[in-house]
Amino acid sequence: MDSDRKFYLIPSLIASLAAFLQVSDALAFTYVLAKNEAEVIIHPTGYEGAGGELTITLGLHPEFAEMEDEIAFSAEHVAAIWTSLLVREENLGPSLEIPKLGGTDFFGTLIHEFGHTLGLAHPTLMGAEVNAKGGRGKYSMATKGPNGKFDINEGSDKVRGSADDERGDDANAVFFKTSDNNPFTLPESGIIDSTTYSRKLEDLPSSARSPNVASREVASDLFSLPNTEAMIVGGGSLIPGQIRRGLGADDVAGIRYAMSGLDEIQGTADDYTLQIKYVGVSDSSDMIIRFDKPDGFAAAYVGAKPLSGNHRAMGKNRIINYNPNLPGNRDWYYPQPERADFESSIINERAFALQIATEPGVRYGISWPDESLTEEEDPSDIIVQWNGENRGSMSSRLFLFVATESMTEVKVAFPSRAPELSEVTAFKVTARKAN
Ligand SMILES: [Zn+2]
Repeated sequence: MDSDRKFYLIPSLIASLAAFLQVSDALAFTYVLAKNEAEVIIHPTGYEGAGGELTITLGLHPEFAEMEDEIAFSAEHVAAIWTSLLVREENLGPSLEIPKLGGTDFFGTLIHEFGHTLGLAHPTLMGAEVNAKGGRGKYSMATKGPNGKFDINEGSDKVRGSADDERGDDANAVFFKTSDNNPFTLPESGIIDSTTYSRKLEDLPSSARSPNVASREVASDLFSLPNTEAMIVGGGSLIPGQIRRGLGADDVAGIRYAMSGLDEIQGTADDYTLQIKYVGVSDSSDMIIRFDKPDGFAAAYVGAKPLSGNHRAMGKNRIINYNPNLPGNRDWYYPQPERADFESSIINERAFALQIATEPGVRYGISWPDESLTEEEDPSDIIVQWNGENRGSMSSRLFLFVATESMTEVKVAFPSRAPELSEVTAFKVTARKAN
């Protein structure tokens, strides 16, 4: 295999997704199937058009029960991350616990594939013909338009997938924020629906010709956001030196837009919320992890049923399949919590503090029970103070950091009531290969 060929193995993370859909490849954000049908909006499994809370389960197929210890930490926290829908700037972490060369991160791959099973697609074109090597980034997802070919021009900024791209008659498939075409923030109003996002190019700000996609190149080169990318941008789990540990704004926008329901208006009766749970070994969960993909890396197998108009719902028992024998002498690495020495103290009924013995340059985490919020409270109301600065958590139950000192203090404040200290834990994040 020459080096070009190896490079294009990266997008093959979802090659099987495309095969299942019988399209050449999947889809700011866009939904699976949009490649063929640009207007489609996909809702998670179980949505029938009535509002309320949707519970979605993630399990490990019984044939692979021996993998449970390896995947439990990743699966529990990926479920919590997609439930919490918190935006993390700098959500690409350094690859501390995963070998930079030859290590493939199970956690980061799962967060990405799970996004597909919820209905999100890559917001970028992923094929050799449109992403010849040498440039920066990938072009935004579109269909070919009347002339039957992709019209691609990166514009004067030399970054693909950005606002100055010239796309000829290509039909855009990517939603963008109409106020500013910025895929790295959510609207200040907190409204995410058809009044704040659009896929029609005429709704772009007047200076823009194309949507900005939430890729690391657009983030770093055009928005001064290092180490930031939407999780659903393809291929990122294989890039040496970086791992994925929290959602980007555009991931959250894509799910929240769908949550505004069939009328695409937030705050109406058909809106829904998501509660995603990892249930361990199960062959009947909504999403099922397997380890017998014969080639490539990992893929989500998606398929949707019609609801009404351009709306569809993801089918049940979606498979997320991993190839246990990775190509190119790579190995899956499974992040694990390894207990750290720490002391905890109560600040008041809403907050606690942890003093953790840490090794600089190593990743640590703290977690607390999922039940620390009431139904009315939002995970974004949890405040984590680390190194004296207020930071967002990854989810309603997890905060990760890379230590800079030999002792680290983390304080966590909740909207109304902190969990029992006995239920709070601090750990070093390591990773291991499967036996
Ligand atoms: Zn993918």
